[in-house]
Amino acid sequence: MTDSKNIHVALAGNPNSGKTSLFNVLVGSNQKVGNFTGVTVEKYEGFKNYREHSIRFTDLPGTYSLSAYSPEERIARNFILTEKPDLVIHVVDGTNLERNLYLTTQIMDLDIPFVIALNMYDEVEEKQIHMDINYLERLLGAHVVPTSATRKTGITDLLDHIIETHTGEIKFRRHKLQYSQNINDLISGLEDILSRARDLNTDLPYRWLSIKLLENDKEAYKLLKDHPVWISLNQFLTQHLEPFKHLTRNDPETQLTEERYAFIRGALQETVRYPGKRKRDLTDNLDAILINRFTGLPIFALIMYMIFTATFRLGEYPMIWIETFFSWISTVLSNFLPDTLFRSVLVDGIIAGVGGVLVFLPNILILFLGISLLEGTGYMARAAFVVDKIMQRVGLHGKSFIPMLTGFGCSVPAFMATRTLKNEADRITTLLIIPFMSCGAKLPVYTLLIGAFFTTQQAGKVLFGLYVFGILIALASAALFKKTLFRGESEPFVMELPPYRWPSLQSLLLQMWHKARLYIRKAGTVILAASILIWIAGNFPKDENVTQKMDALKTQIREQDLSPYETSRALEKIKAEEEALQFEQSYAAQLGKALEPAIKPLGFDWRIGVALVSGIAAKEVVVSTMGTIYSIGNNMYEESVSLRQRLRNDPAYSPAMGLALMVFVLLYVPCIAATVIFHREAGAFKWTLLYFFYTIGVAWIMAFIVYRFMNFLL
Ligand code: GDP
Ligand code: MG
Repeated sequence: MTDSKNIHVALAGNPNSGKTSLFNVLVGSNQKVGNFTGVTVEKYEGFKNYREHSIRFTDLPGTYSLSAYSPEERIARNFILTEKPDLVIHVVDGTNLERNLYLTTQIMDLDIPFVIALNMYDEVEEKQIHMDINYLERLLGAHVVPTSATRKTGITDLLDHIIETHTGEIKFRRHKLQYSQNINDLISGLEDILSRARDLNTDLPYRWLSIKLLENDKEAYKLLKDHPVWISLNQFLTQHLEPFKHLTRNDPETQLTEERYAFIRGALQETVRYPGKRKRDLTDNLDAILINRFTGLPIFALIMYMIFTATFRLGEYPMIWIETFFSWISTVLSNFLPDTLFRSVLVDGIIAGVGGVLVFLPNILILFLGISLLEGTGYMARAAFVVDKIMQRVGLHGKSFIPMLTGFGCSVPAFMATRTLKNEADRITTLLIIPFMSCGAKLPVYTLLIGAFFTTQQAGKVLFGLYVFGILIALASAALFKKTLFRGESEPFVMELPPYRWPSLQSLLLQMWHKARLYIRKAGTVILAASILIWIAGNFPKDENVTQKMDALKTQIREQDLSPYETSRALEKIKAEEEALQFEQSYAAQLGKALEPAIKPLGFDWRIGVALVSGIAAKEVVVSTMGTIYSIGNNMYEESVSLRQRLRNDPAYSPAMGLALMVFVLLYVPCIAATVIFHREAGAFKWTLLYFFYTIGVAWIMAFIVYRFMNFLL
């Protein structure tokens, strides 16, 4: 800071927060009255000499907000932004924090140094309102000084804070208010355009101007509308406002207000305890149960359990229909198409692969519906709030939990959601543990293996257990990273508590369909390509010896005096045998066999090895690969046997192996698309390397433990 002995301080606060009283206590009779420039609103200024400094105070008009709706608001914010006082004393009525903190959120947007005078503290104590001031300071990123203008307490403390912020003896932490990703994208889009514009005749902060534009602020509009940059700004807004409204069912202005109140509700929930009964709304009443210290966590666990059970149970019926449909197509095509490579790639490659993945569409839809419901009702934020304390124990906070929960859907948006974490250590740690969340693509693998190796009664529990296991591994890893790579304390954040609301069925279905479309598109592109590649790897190279031998056998059969039916049966059998023999030395088998020593301790054979390698393309491909591999070598009379059945009947496999495989798939490195995004978000090659080897290492160790343990039990 400067070593100047003159300090300019402005007092800002709601009407009746006690600004003028405080101002009078601070400066005594050393005051004069003037007018704010250009308006007839009276301006009170006063001086105080303290600790060899001369402090000039300006008492700003009282405002509830810093929008440009009233002259008072305009004066207050223009004064702060253009006169640039060294420090703002934000006077807050301590008995009415809920309303007063709204202005605080706007002052935080200004990104200027401020100290909060928590005024009327005498009444706070009298009313026995308990405040964790220390924690409040950390959440708001500003020092909080309890004062009473009437009792004249806390005044020297406040003066000391003014001097010491000025001399730099106490550090001022600038916390920006963190908005949701949707709003943030709009803000940074506008900010970008502003920062690229030339001769913008303003020294107002671009981020703040962007926020104001989104709030339809008249002054911001007036300032920019005649500048060439307005064309780009307008273009950006036209392009992005509709999608935003569609997604959030809100305009940005309302959304910003709601998020500010969510911030306040969260901050108060963590720091203030009122004695006895208070006026409560529905949200308060629901929160009393849902984020309660004792009931919150069990209720959260129950809700998640219900979602996963529904995913499996309700999904089963349509799943059987789709399964039946695809095996019917396979049978029909095998019957009517001539026995060529084309039939093979179609039936054993494409239909087995893509069909095997599409079968799980119903499960995915139900899971996504559940997650959208949690987000839409406002419960997701409560879940984050509830786990905040647990997260803090491993060195993270509840905010990291939202990207983690998003990871239940897909890692790609989850990695991107970590941008709301401003602390680098927290962000990297969260990025590194997201792979352990069970994304939607892992669900098909679980569904297949649970269906093959467990009963319907066990299914829900196993599935739920896997999700919980993933979370536990994630938390343990976070603790490990925090203890080794990133030591040091992290900043606490406010856990926002938005109001509860009924999401509209339309928006729920829309979100669900949005995700379903991505899934179907993936089945038609990545998975289609992978299926064909895997089919090629499984069918080539051909061993000429085998071909010759089998051709000889076929000729023999044709020469025999058999009925047409018996002939075709015998030929099919030979062909299946040939396929099996050819597959044994195909590229895929060679790769799998090369891997086998490494995965043998986990109970996996080389066929699983092939599936796991191809699963790096996309986790669903584990299923489609198995679909392809296990249908090679089956004759056409067996095409209608489902993959589930084949696995169940295979003597090489057991429930222990099934569980170990699920654990491995849960934990090992996510798909290529997610990895690319991880690299982009983490921003350094070393993190991507760590991510790759850490996930695979943990997957191996855990699968090993599970396999051994299950074998010991069974
Ligand atoms: P302003 O509108 O922010 O300038 O607030 P004023 O200074 O005019 O104060 C509004 C009312 O609150 C007055 O009646 C003050 O006496 C009262 N008041 C101000 N500060 C305190 C305080 O610290 N404790 C109590 N109990 N009353 C206060
Ligand atoms: Mg006043």
